[in-house]
Amino acid sequence: MQILDGRKTSASIKDELKAKVAELKKEGKKVPHLAAVLVGEDGGSITYVNAKVKACDYVGYDSTLIRFPDSISEEELLSKVDELNNDKSIDGFIVQLPLPKHIDERKVTLAIDPAKDVDGFHPENIGRMSLGLPSFLPATPNGIMELLKRHNIQTEGKHCVIIGRSSIVGTPLSILMSRNDKHANATVTLCHSRTKNLEEICRDADILVAAIGKPYFVKENMVKDGAVVIDVGTSRLEDSSKKSGYKLAGDVAFDEVAEKCSFITPVPGGVGPMTIASLLLNTYEANKRFQSA
Ligand code: NAP
Repeated sequence: MQILDGRKTSASIKDELKAKVAELKKEGKKVPHLAAVLVGEDGGSITYVNAKVKACDYVGYDSTLIRFPDSISEEELLSKVDELNNDKSIDGFIVQLPLPKHIDERKVTLAIDPAKDVDGFHPENIGRMSLGLPSFLPATPNGIMELLKRHNIQTEGKHCVIIGRSSIVGTPLSILMSRNDKHANATVTLCHSRTKNLEEICRDADILVAAIGKPYFVKENMVKDGAVVIDVGTSRLEDSSKKSGYKLAGDVAFDEVAEKCSFITPVPGGVGPMTIASLLLNTYEANKRFQSA
């Protein structure tokens, strides 16, 4: 069994981008600029956004963090989105989800200019991705594809089973995995809470992706010998032995499953860092498009 080390792979992507940014600076060109909008005090969201800003600093991008209290109105947030859409100094921006209940996430996602939608959540980008046209690819699914590609893991002709059909992970990953591309071309089964015979379907997977949000859901009896297992889940479990008071748990019972598979991602240190690397790749592309527009 080999660990698919997302931290290491993400570090090499970041180093590649850092070298490209140094080149841009040398040529006197504008460096990529990512803005992140964070609403409220959700611990997970603060951690993710801080990690994104830190990654921008590392590669040499400009970054702007915009924070609002939970009480911000939908109208005020939409007005900030409009401002960012029209701010020429910013190449791409994200609005960290989830948002407070009184704000319609769909409305906010739709309001983002698709040309600046580096999270790849806008329907225009999802539609273009589905048609195989150039687009910003959703960060987590694209991070998974990049992780497989950079480890020379064959997907062509393989059976890929994805558990979880969210619009940010499972569904777009099913599209990317089944695209007509030598780094995709998998036969995909997309499972959800109404799927019957889930264990049996999972046991047939050459590549099994768990994106459910239920700690240790995937057990040894759901995995075929030699399968590649990708664990997207990140649930916070109380743990008084940790300084933070919690530990991150994946959707896969790592210790028992690891023994059976050929490759497996750890949590933390697997898919999470790849999501950030993917966001940086999208932001680099956004800057390139602006330069050539
Ligand atoms: P989500 O919106 O929470 O949806 C969960 C999905 O799992 C749904 O499609 C649901 O089915 C399915 N599901 C729930 N229980 C199930 C069961 N018993 N059997 C089969 N399917 C079941 O999903 P998400 O936003 O993709 O998040 C999933 C996990 O990934 C969370 O832990 C999240 O924190 C993590 N995540 C990590 C990253 C990262 O960068 N590492 C990025 C995004 C998300 P229904 O549709 O039928 O309800």
